[in-house]
Amino acid sequence: MEEFLTEKARGQSRGRAAWSVVAAVFGVAFLCVSGDFLSDGNTGSGGISIVLGLACFLPVWKTVRAALLRRQTRQFASAFAGAEGASIRLEKLRGQVSAKDPAAAVNRLIGAGYLRNCTVDLNKNAVLLHAPSKLVEQMEAAEVECPHCGASVRVYRKRPGVCAFCGSEVSFPGAREQR
Ligand SMILES: [Zn+2]
Repeated sequence: MEEFLTEKARGQSRGRAAWSVVAAVFGVAFLCVSGDFLSDGNTGSGGISIVLGLACFLPVWKTVRAALLRRQTRQFASAFAGAEGASIRLEKLRGQVSAKDPAAAVNRLIGAGYLRNCTVDLNKNAVLLHAPSKLVEQMEAAEVECPHCGASVRVYRKRPGVCAFCGSEVSFPGAREQR
């Protein structure tokens, strides 16, 4: 799944986490002080303290958001790595990741610089994977016509395919398709 993760998605952020704890402490302190100012009727200083307090929570929010994005990125990358072909259908993704709209989530993660080597194809209702997964690299695959209904079925040398339309087993073709 590493092939789908950018440096940003892999990055450790312990320093950042520690810094956001400090910022949160300052944020709480400013908000407490602002309460004291306001109860003393000093609205000017109270207002400034509230603004400073909220500003301290900004790095906290950024750190939390980055952690959530990283977690979601890993979910997608692991689903992509388990895909057997060069694409994975959105409806299949829906069952594997915690995102209501996987297409939008993938685009967001690509845009934010977390996911790579994939693109959303809404016409095909799938995410196209540009880096071949290890599974696919190890397996010799071929598109074979189903002998019963004529549908195209993707089969692997070591794993015969099952036709999605009629359910019949389709085995890997003979010498013609071999490398
Ligand atoms: Zn069939």
